[in-house]
Amino acid sequence: MINDALPGNIGRNARAMTNMRRQKWSRNSVHSVAAILAVSMAWTATVEAADCPRKETLGTSRILSVDAATTPRVGLKSFSATLPLEDHEVVLTFDDGPWPPTTPRVLAALAHECVRATFFLIGRNASEHPELVRKIASEGHTIGHHTWAHRSLMRIPPKATTAEIDRGISADETALHGIATTIPSTPFFRFPGFEMTPATLDLLQSRGIVVFGTDFWASDWNPMTPQQELKLIINRLGNARRGIILFHDTKAQTAAMLPAFLRFLRDNQYRVVHVVPASPGAEDLP
Ligand SMILES: [Zn+2]
Repeated sequence: MINDALPGNIGRNARAMTNMRRQKWSRNSVHSVAAILAVSMAWTATVEAADCPRKETLGTSRILSVDAATTPRVGLKSFSATLPLEDHEVVLTFDDGPWPPTTPRVLAALAHECVRATFFLIGRNASEHPELVRKIASEGHTIGHHTWAHRSLMRIPPKATTAEIDRGISADETALHGIATTIPSTPFFRFPGFEMTPATLDLLQSRGIVVFGTDFWASDWNPMTPQQELKLIINRLGNARRGIILFHDTKAQTAAMLPAFLRFLRDNQYRVVHVVPASPGAEDLP
């Protein structure tokens, strides 16, 4: 039996936050509906198909640009809003890397099927393995941020919270571009363990950074075989039919399972959507 809950206190805190947010969302429900409707979307042709050397791959079906001004928070596990995905559309996300034993295997599986994903990096890992950060970026994936050291942002003082967020962004940007800036070139962020507070949510929104929750997950923080993980995620996808999926590229079972999961997506007419920031990155601004 696979445990669907987040580990330990993380799950409890996530549920507590959900209740807190319900109260807040009910007050702001008009805004949240407006946010869903106002999501910025960009449809493009399947440019990746032309770039892909192998025929009959899964491929990336379209690019969806996400604007923090209209879509500050997405993911049904934490929020009432999510990305405007069609039936059978999925967004693949990978947390906690870069991690040399497993991230390259995840990248190879994605490249084999010509699909693009989003990686939420831990800054400390990025600073230790900058070449792997640049490899992720050079293969066309989106790079989001996941703090410096994956501490719980609900259990440390507000000043330390900001430092954790900023140090992580700066480490990722240094690995990517050699510039230690706290203005992210891709303003996407995911909280470790989804442990957020109204104050940290407000902070990120004020800085124009989209907070990514997720719609469902593979529970790959639990020990299981690749076959068990594949069965579990296929079942959850069958129920959800669409959505943002959370994996961890630090997990060997996920790296081992991914080729079969991507084949399942291809064989069952699922389509992969690649999320990118709506506005130009900081590096492109004058
Ligand atoms: Zn994480």
